[in-house]
Amino acid sequence: MMHNGKGREQKKEKFSFRSYITFYTRFPIPWWLFIASLAFSLINTEVFLAISKYVIRINKGELYNSVIIGYALLTVLNAAISMGSNICGEYGIQKVTLRARKLLWDKILHLPMREVERRQPSSLISGVVNDITQASTVIHMIFSTVASVYGFVRCCVEMARFNAKLSAYMLLLVPLAIGVFALVGQLQYRMMLRRYESLNTMTEFFSEHISAAKHVKAQAIEDMETEAGLRAIDERYRADVYYAFMEVLQVFSNTLYTSIGSIVIALFGSDMIRKGQMPDTGINDFTTYKGRVDQYQAEVLTHYQTLKGTQGAMQYVGVLQEGPEEDLEDGYDLPESQPEQDIVLDRVSFGYVPQQPVLHDLSLTIPAGKTTAIIGSNGSGKSTLLKLLQGIYSPDSGRVWLGKAAVDEVKLAQLRRRFGCVLQHNPLFSGSVRDNIAYGATGEISDEAIAGAARLADADGFIRQLPQGYDSDVGMGGALLSGGQRQRVAIARMLMSNPDYLLMDEAGASLDHKSDMTIFRTVREHMKNRTIVVVAHDMRSVMEADHIIVLNEGSLEAAGNHKELLGTSPTYRAYLQLQGYTLAGEEVSR
Ligand code: ADP
Repeated sequence: MMHNGKGREQKKEKFSFRSYITFYTRFPIPWWLFIASLAFSLINTEVFLAISKYVIRINKGELYNSVIIGYALLTVLNAAISMGSNICGEYGIQKVTLRARKLLWDKILHLPMREVERRQPSSLISGVVNDITQASTVIHMIFSTVASVYGFVRCCVEMARFNAKLSAYMLLLVPLAIGVFALVGQLQYRMMLRRYESLNTMTEFFSEHISAAKHVKAQAIEDMETEAGLRAIDERYRADVYYAFMEVLQVFSNTLYTSIGSIVIALFGSDMIRKGQMPDTGINDFTTYKGRVDQYQAEVLTHYQTLKGTQGAMQYVGVLQEGPEEDLEDGYDLPESQPEQDIVLDRVSFGYVPQQPVLHDLSLTIPAGKTTAIIGSNGSGKSTLLKLLQGIYSPDSGRVWLGKAAVDEVKLAQLRRRFGCVLQHNPLFSGSVRDNIAYGATGEISDEAIAGAARLADADGFIRQLPQGYDSDVGMGGALLSGGQRQRVAIARMLMSNPDYLLMDEAGASLDHKSDMTIFRTVREHMKNRTIVVVAHDMRSVMEADHIIVLNEGSLEAAGNHKELLGTSPTYRAYLQLQGYTLAGEEVSR
C-alpha cells in the first residue's frame, strides 16, 4: 500500500535527443499556428522600434498631431499584434497537448501487460495527466526563444545605432548578466524539476490511496493514511516554497541588473550630456531601447530554463512512447469459429519475472465444446494459465494452440474477442447498467438483447428494482452495486459478446452458493457445445465439469473426469474431503 515512488525511478531511463525528435514526428503539429505566432512577434519587434522613434520625438517635445496620432495608432497596433501572437501560440499549445495526450493514451492502451505492471498504473496516470502537458511547452518555447533572440538582436542594433558609446558601456555588464542569470537559472531549473516530480508523486499517491478508501475505512487506518498523505503534500509544499523563493530571487536579480544598468547609464550618460555629446533627453531616449533589450534578454533566459525543466517530464513520456507495444492486428487471421477443436498447451513454461517460473513445462488439453474445471491451491498458476490462453502474456517456452492456430501467431484482437471472461472482480465503468452490459458489444444493441442477457445472468430482477432500472448509474467501478450484483452485470456483459470460449476465474466467489450454481448452470446451458474453462473452489461446480485439471505449483498433477481423478489425484480427493464430502471408492456424499 505504501507509496514507494518506484514508478518514478523509471524516469531515469535513457531518452536520447533523437528520440525527442522522433516523439514529435508521431503526431501532427499545428506548425502554422506557431509560425503565425512567431511572425506576429517579429512584426511586433519592428512596431516597437517604430514606436520608440515616436517616443524619442515626444521626449524632445515634438508634440505635433501627426506624432501623437502616429504614436497612438502604433501602440494600439502593438497591442493587437501581441494578442494575435498569444492567441495563435495558446491555440497551438492546446492542440499539441490534445494530440500528444491522445497519442499517449493510445500507447498506454497498447502496452504489453508486463509493461503496464512494470510501470504501475499510477505512474501512467501521472504521465497522461501531468507529464504530457510539457510536450507543447517544448515547441512553444523554441518558437518564443527565436522571437526573443530576434527582438534582442534588433533592439541591440537599434540601441547601438542610437548611441554606440553608451551601448558599449552596456557591454561591460554582459558578463555580470550571464553570471547572475546562469546561477539563478540553474537553481530555478532544479526547483522546477523538483516541483514537477512532487506533482507526480502527489497524483500517484492520491490515485492509489483514494481508490483504496474502503480498505482504509474498514481497517480504521485513517491516521496512518493522513500521515502518508501528508508526506506527499509536504513534499509538494516544500517544492513550491523553494520554487517561489527562486522566482523572488530571479525577479530580484533582474531588478538588480536593470538598476545597475540604469546607474551605468546615469553615470556615463550624464557625463556625455555635460560634454555635449548627447542631447538632454538622451538618457531617457536610450532607456527606451535599453528596457526592451533587458526584457528580451530575460525572456531568452527564462525560455531556456523552462525548456530544460521540461526534460524530465518529456523523458518519461518519450521512453514510454519508444517502448514495446502490442500490435493487435499483426499475424494470421484466426480461422472462423472452430468449436470442435481443442485448446492444447504444449510444454508451456512461463514466469512473470526471470528465474521464477510460475508454470513449468505444462502440457494439457482443454477439450472442445466441454466444460473444463481447473483446481489447485492459491498461486498454483490457474489464473496465469487463463491469461496465456488469451495471449495477455506469452509463454517463455512452449506453445498454446487453439485448434490448429498457435496463439502467438494469430491476430491478438481476433483471438481475444473469441474469449469471454468473467473474473472474481470485474471492472464496471461509471454510467448506466445498460451501457455496462452493452460495453464492448458491436453492432446494433437492442434493449431486448440487453434484458435477455441480464435474465440469463439472473440480473434482470434486481436491475428492474433499481430507481431508474436499466438507466441507473452503477457508480465509479460499479461502487453503487453490491459485489454479487456487479458480478451478474459482468456475466450479462460477457454473454452480450457471444464468445466462442468462456473463461470464468472464481466468478462465483461473490455470489451466494445457490445463485452461483443457478447462474453457472444457466450459462452452461446457454453456451452448450462451446468450450468453457472454470477456475473454481466450490467442488460442486468442479464435479459437474466434463473435464478437470489439477495444478500443483505450476505443474500438472492430474487431468480427467471426476471418477478418474478420485483414483489419480490426491489433491482432488483432499479438496472434496475439505468441503465435507465423504469418499467411499467412487461414491461421494455429503
Ligand atoms: P492462482 O490463480 O492459481 O491463485 P496465479 O496464476 O494468480 O495463481 O499466480 C501464480 C503465481 O504468479 C503466484 O505466485 C503469484 O504471486 C504470481 N503472480 C501472479 N500475477 C503476477 C504478476 N502480475 N506479476 C508477478 N507475479 C504474479
